[in-house]
Amino acid sequence: MTECIFCKIIEKNIPAEIVYDDEDVIAFLDINPVHPGHALVMPKQHIEKFVDVPPDQCKNLAGVIQKIMKSLTGELGYDGVNLIQNNGTAAGQIVPHLHFHVIPRKTGDGFAHWHGRGYADGESALWAAKMRSAIESSGAA
Ligand code: 5GP
Ligand code: ZN
Repeated sequence: MTECIFCKIIEKNIPAEIVYDDEDVIAFLDINPVHPGHALVMPKQHIEKFVDVPPDQCKNLAGVIQKIMKSLTGELGYDGVNLIQNNGTAAGQIVPHLHFHVIPRKTGDGFAHWHGRGYADGESALWAAKMRSAIESSGAA
């Protein structure tokens, strides 16, 4: 049996509050929410990182994320939503099964974003050039 906690939820071997379920995508409530309704949306296939998702699966995943966002800011009355997806332990990924955090927000709820560090003179142009080159060589452009 899989050791992945999210695969266990997908296989219905451990419980979760499932809010959306189709052939390829599932969404359930995060056990430790920022606000009630904080949902985790993911492919049912065990994929660790976003770069590993076959492009033809992205459309369905994005559609489910949009549905959940709309429900939170529509009928459920939230003011905004953060969409967060952590890739790798350095980026805060704890569960190695790709998931998107759909986090409902209220105006003035006090949850802070990280602070930017700014750029030194000429540094942003250098980084933009390096990135354009890296994107081109990755075949993503
Ligand atoms: P990550 O840091 O990997 O992006 O986030 C993992 C998230 O999964 C955390 O916010 C955590 O609260 C949630 N989580 C971890 N274990 C479980 C679980 O067994 N059930 C549910 N519903 N959420 C979980
Ligand atoms: Zn998994």
